[in-house]
Amino acid sequence: MSPGEQHGIFIRVEVEESARGDAELARKLEEACPVDIFAAADGRVEIVDENLDECVLCELCLDAAPPGAVRVVKRYDHDAALERTA
Ligand code: SF4
Repeated sequence: MSPGEQHGIFIRVEVEESARGDAELARKLEEACPVDIFAAADGRVEIVDENLDECVLCELCLDAAPPGAVRVVKRYDHDAALERTA
């Protein structure tokens, strides 16, 4: 990947601030995402920017997180969001 290449052009992933410091959630998200968009770093949820556009919209991250903690935003589709509300 060349320097300066843009990531997250098609997809943005948002994690609630209150959930970001949840080490257990970080581990679960890292495990769940098939394209490694989440990393557990020092017990925090980190987003791996360079993998964002690999998202396959599988919703496994939503299933692994409490309702509302994670949103997958389709930037290419007027910011339509995948999220779990219950
Ligand atoms: S929807 Fe699937 S591919 Fe996209 S971030 Fe969530 S787990 Fe990863």
